[in-house]
Formats: sequence, C-alpha cells, structure tokens
Amino acid sequence: MNQPSVLIAGAGPTGLAAALLLARRGIHARIVDAAGAPAPHSRALVVNPRTLDLLAGTGVTERMVDEGRDVRGVRFHENGKELTHLEAGHLHPRYGLTVLSQERSEALLTAALADLGIQVERGVQAALVSQDAGGADVQLGGGEAARFDAVYAADGAHSAFRKALGIDFPGSAFPEEWPLFDVPMDTPLDLDHAHILFFPDGMAFALALDRLVWRIIASVPDPLSRLPEGTTHGEPVWSSRFRIAHRVAPRCALGRVALGGDAAHIHSPIGARGMNLGIEDAATFAMRLAGSQGATAVALDAYHRERHPVHRSVVRRIRAITTMARGHNAALRMARHALLPAVAHVDGMRTMMLRTVAGLDHPPPAE
Ligand SMILES: Cc1cc2nc3c(=O)[nH]c(=O)nc-3n(C[C@H](O)[C@H](O)[C@H](O)COP(=O)(O)OP(=O)(O)OC[C@H]3O[C@@H](n4cnc5c(N)ncnc54)[C@H](O)[C@@H]3O)c2cc1C
Repeated sequence: MNQPSVLIAGAGPTGLAAALLLARRGIHARIVDAAGAPAPHSRALVVNPRTLDLLAGTGVTERMVDEGRDVRGVRFHENGKELTHLEAGHLHPRYGLTVLSQERSEALLTAALADLGIQVERGVQAALVSQDAGGADVQLGGGEAARFDAVYAADGAHSAFRKALGIDFPGSAFPEEWPLFDVPMDTPLDLDHAHILFFPDGMAFALALDRLVWRIIASVPDPLSRLPEGTTHGEPVWSSRFRIAHRVAPRCALGRVALGGDAAHIHSPIGARGMNLGIEDAATFAMRLAGSQGATAVALDAYHRERHPVHRSVVRRIRAITTMARGHNAALRMARHALLPAVAHVDGMRTMMLRTVAGLDHPPPAE
C-alpha cells in the first residue's frame, strides 16, 4: 500500500509532533511554516504527563524530562496567606508535570524530526486552493502548487485553513487584557510549586522557570506590585499582553483537511493544556492516518469524531476553572474562598482538578 502524501501547515508544537509521529509510522510528511524562524519567546511552560507518554519512544520524552524541572503541585494564596494546596504526587506512574519552555519543546521536536530526515521548510506560507474526493490542492509560498492526499492544518488560532474551509470558531472572550512577565525575582514563594494568588479584583499565576526567572500572568494590570510580602524583582526579561478566549471549531476535519491544536481550540493558559492538547491531537491524527489503509477521508472523519468531544469538554472545564479563579464578581469570589479549600480535601474533586492539569481527564488515543 502506498503511503498517503501529507502536508503539515504550521511548525508549532502541534505540527512538529504530527510530523514526528507520522514519520515514526513510516509516513514522511512535508512540513512548512510561514515564519522564517521559530518564535523566540515561550508561551507554554508545562509539559504534562499525557504528552510525555505520547512522545515516549521518539527520544523526545527523555530529553524533555532531562532538561525540564518537576513542579510538585499548586498553592493557592489569598490576602498573603495560603488558602490551600494541591499536590500532583503519583498521578502518573512514570511522569510528573515538567516545566520546560515551549521554545525548547519545539527545538527538541525539530531535532528528532531532523534525525528522521525531515526538515521544516521555513518561510513557506500554505493556502488551501480547493479540495475534491481525491485530494487537496494547496498553494505553497509564492509559486508552488501541490496536491496532497491529506493536509494537517496546525496553523494556529487565526488558522487560514479553518477560514478557507468555512468552519466557524464560536465561543466567548474575557474583556480584559492579561499582562505577562518573565521576571527575575527573589521571593518567599517556593520554586517547587505553581502559585495562584487571588485578589479582590482578579488573580495572578506565578511559576518559576528556573532558580531566578519567574513567569507571572494575571487578570489585573499591575501584578508585579501585588506579589507576596518579601518579594523583590528586577527588570522583566520579556513582557507581553494577551487576551483570553474560549473557542472550539465545530468540525476539526472536512474532507481531506484536518485541523489540530490552536487551529481547532483555544482557551485560557490556566491549566496548561493548549500545547499539550495540540500534541494529543497530533498523536491521534498520526494513528488514524497511518491505520487508514488508503481510506484517507474516512480516517480524517474518524479523527474529527474522536477529537471534537474532547476539545469541547476540555475547553468547557478550563473556562469554568478560569472563571472561578478570575473571580470577577462577589459570588464567584465567595465561592472561590469558601469552596476551594473544602473541594481540595475531597478525594474525588482533588483528583479531578489534578487530572485536568495533568491532561489525564479523558482516555488517551488508542490504536
Ligand atoms: C501565556 C500563555 C501561556 C501558555 N502556557 C501553556 C502551557 O503551560 N502549557 C500548554 O500546553 N499550553 C500553553 N499555552 C498555549 C500554547 O502556547 C498553544 O496552545 C500552542 O502554541 C499551540 O500550538 P500550535 O502548534 O497548535 O499553534 P502555534 O504554536 O500557534 O503554531 C502555529 C504555527 O503555524 C504557522 N503558520 C500560521 N499560518 C500558516 C500558514 N498559512 N502556512 C504555514 N504556516 C503557518 C505559524 O507561523 C506558527 O509557527 C499558553 C499560551 C499562552 C498565551
């Protein structure tokens, strides 16, 4: 059986993982990215146990674990005191929550791909021209037109492929801008946990990237002036602002084109799921396509039927967690204050929250 010809549009974590996991199954895809170079700044910081499981056997998992740092759980703070904490403990038999920059995760995936003889073609923008029952026609860069049996559109939240397919991206957005700082800090917050600081008008999230630099993101404009007593900080090494939206594409495959990662779903970074969920999409795509025995459109439809319910339920859960943490009205703040410590002590609830962060809240994709 001839292997299908595959184009992957986008070399973020989703596209790179798809190319790598397809190559491991004998399908050598072309992978292109519109950008001339990888993004220099890291968005995602946490690789979860589900991702480490899915990449096991590629060599990337071992490297991520070697380079990364374990984070043991989450501490919640209010009014300068710890409200409660969740310990990740033994959620997974082999892996924990690993702090590693998205930039390094992408570099490790790219290197593993190069070891299999596949180079990312950079500075090449892909655009869907048309598709029919036999394949998809794509324009690559300025001049090249090519036809593929399957296209995996991992082209990010503003996906041109999603738009070309006429697929909506319904959902909602919070109105405020969230500041982000990577900043050197000396602080009583411990390095081994992520921290969520509740304020009367919002929240901040703090995680040590290494012994010196912390990532702070917040729903309030001035988080650096609200850090716990005893904290001092230097000049940020990177700062940015972003908006949070929760959206799910109602279809993540149509004919010969499938959508993966942020092209199919976006949500708040609280819960550290975006990149990890995209890598899980990629693993599912590789499994379905490699097992398709030439029935490519059937395999892509199976991918949609399997992934769409997962996208919907994960985004719904992350939106609920973020809404509660953000606490933008008195009722939510009261619930946050009163319920969280109680819930954190109920076995089933604690496990549910931890499994959400670990990416273990639904079964893994299976052959
Ligand atoms: C502040 C912040 C913190 C986060 N923290 C976490 C975390 O801890 N854990 C986690 O799992 N997730 C996290 N995320 C989410 C995570 O960064 C994204 O979900 C992830 O980058 C999505 O990967 P992707 O490959 O789907 O898309 P992207 O990373 O957006 O990559 C898309 C790629 O496609 C390319 N492209 C676009 N259009 C075209 C085209 N037409 N042709 C060719 N190439 C194209 C782009 O150049 C880009 O390289 C965070 C996000 C933010 C904003």
